[in-house]
Amino acid sequence: MGLFTHDIKTLDDLFVHTLQDIYYAEHQITKALPKMIAKATHPELKQGFETHLRQTETQIQRLEEVFRMHGHSPKAVTCPAINGIIEEANEVAGEVADKDVLDAALVASAQAVEHYEITRYGSLIAWAKQLGRDDCAGVLQQNLDEEKATDHLLTALAERQVNQRAA
Ligand code: FE
Ligand code: FE
Ligand code: FE
Repeated sequence: MGLFTHDIKTLDDLFVHTLQDIYYAEHQITKALPKMIAKATHPELKQGFETHLRQTETQIQRLEEVFRMHGHSPKAVTCPAINGIIEEANEVAGEVADKDVLDAALVASAQAVEHYEITRYGSLIAWAKQLGRDDCAGVLQQNLDEEKATDHLLTALAERQVNQRAA
């Protein structure tokens, strides 16, 4: 998709483009998570990231399934938003010296990623339903549920433990 070339003409085009966007984002997340696992100190946070890395690999497979169901080959288009979120996460992590404060920073960065994913899956599911693709919506909903669960888990971990240790 070129900028300003008006390649997206229909809601169906927009659905496929956004599918390609989140497909790219999920791949970038599988590259970023091992670095976050390495940087995390709190065992539950490390474990949480490891679990979400495995979930993310499954999410990529589900996206490939949705592409096929909708008659397209899986393809990624650059998502500047996820690149920016990951770049900022790396920058901030690089600035933090204290391990416990670093954990708090990692939680915040991970939640920025989850929230981006939640907006994209929310729109994709709504558009899939509008396009009469409840089957695609159902598969995408599984990814959305995992992103929301991860977000809630991170909030709980921060409020119960990580933030107090960092303070
Ligand atoms: Fe994801
Ligand atoms: Fe994007
Ligand atoms: Fe996620």
